[in-house]
Amino acid sequence: MRIVLLGPPGSGKGTQATRLAQRLGIPELSTGDMLRAAVSAETPIGRKAKAMMERGELVPDELVVAVVAERILRPDAKNGFILDGFPRTIAQAAALDDILLTNGLNLDCVVELKVDEEVLLGRILNRAKEATTNGQTARVDDTEGALRIRLDEYRRQTAPLADYYRAKGILKSIDGLQPVNKVATSLFEALVA
Ligand code: AMP
Repeated sequence: MRIVLLGPPGSGKGTQATRLAQRLGIPELSTGDMLRAAVSAETPIGRKAKAMMERGELVPDELVVAVVAERILRPDAKNGFILDGFPRTIAQAAALDDILLTNGLNLDCVVELKVDEEVLLGRILNRAKEATTNGQTARVDDTEGALRIRLDEYRRQTAPLADYYRAKGILKSIDGLQPVNKVATSLFEALVA
């Protein structure tokens, strides 16, 4: 199955993508993780993306599309994948359609995790606190300032994707505010329904 998970920062998208990937035996492709790895490795892409990511802004479409185009055609993604954090703009969604079409592939389902925005800020700041308590390094963009920009980017650029995929008849929406296990169940049911 080829699946896209949509949802604002703090919606639990990453956690659900990881669990679903394990359950379905297909890779989770997180553009955030790929870009953070590029930043750590100081690759040319990482050097371009670093400051924008720290501020909470989206990196340019062509940069992230190039990363995804290469990744989804690798052998481990042959039987499907879960995209987490991509596409985030209509232009990225159109580019994904092109890549898939060119390779004779299609998207099976797009699942949107719906979460009340007011809950998100608390969730993310909590994630940063937990990481620090556990001795891990909190994400540099899990700060209040960067989060506000990330939410704004989501509202302006990513939220319109729900209509884009609804028009194609492949959008499912689930309540992302349920307990984690319940979200996982709803997500799985949405996919097999
Ligand atoms: P995430 O881990 O999905 O929250 O992504 C972290 C950051 O990586 C975002 O705030 C953006 O700066 C960048 N990023 C990840 N995916 C994309 C994307 N599809 N388009 C543009 N920027 C992205």
